[in-house]
Amino acid sequence: MKKGKKIYEGKAKILFDTDKPDLVIQEFKDDATAFDATKRGTIEQKGVMNNEISCALFRLLESKGIPTHFVKKLSEREMLVKKLDIVMVEVTIRNISAGGLSKLLGIEEGIVLKKPVLEYHYKNDGLHDPLINDYHIEMLGLATDKEMKKIKDYSFSVNEILKDFFNKVGLKLVDFKLEFGRHKGKILLGDEISPDTCRLWDKKTNEKLDKDRFRRDLGKIEEAYQEVLKRIKS
Ligand code: UDP
Repeated sequence: MKKGKKIYEGKAKILFDTDKPDLVIQEFKDDATAFDATKRGTIEQKGVMNNEISCALFRLLESKGIPTHFVKKLSEREMLVKKLDIVMVEVTIRNISAGGLSKLLGIEEGIVLKKPVLEYHYKNDGLHDPLINDYHIEMLGLATDKEMKKIKDYSFSVNEILKDFFNKVGLKLVDFKLEFGRHKGKILLGDEISPDTCRLWDKKTNEKLDKDRFRRDLGKIEEAYQEVLKRIKS
């Protein structure tokens, strides 16, 4: 696979063309941002760990019938993926209150929700990724009803698969964010699944093992990502 020119550079990843028009390479960086990129930093080896964690989770999801953009791991920091026309909607699923939900509804962190809560956010940095609903999505023409039904079904299935998987390795899946895209007429799960995009708490101690360690300056950030990787591989 020949790595071509850079197509896009985001906060945590860079996308490169390949010699195949429908495949791209996503390269994971150590850069970390939070709070609308007002907080910036580096997490040593994050790119390597997030690539490995994401690859493992995409493989797991594929094995359970969720279509994803994942093709294969190319190197420490590189993943070969199917090129997507990204749906500009971020899907969040929450099992335990934290972060944005606690802030929005004035609920303390750590309440186990009776059933998973799904949220959509408009992927728009200029507007600070506002919370939106199906009507806004239709109004803005971000996706069709049929596409959103698929996205919603896949998202809840991903939650069940990941909740069960993390539970077996002693982690609570508090919440996470997914992105989807179109590829040859199909909706595929894209982006990454890592401690950058999931909140993961230790089952016994409730210790945070995710990007909240960076957001809230809790220290031992690299160690937390390493611990997640270690458990995933166990
Ligand atoms: N998240 C993400 N990217 C974003 C916003 C959120 O990956 O741009 C993830 C975040 O890590 C958490 C979940 O989505 O696991 C829910 O985040 P929340 O809405 O609580 O926002 P935050 O507290 O991160 O601002």
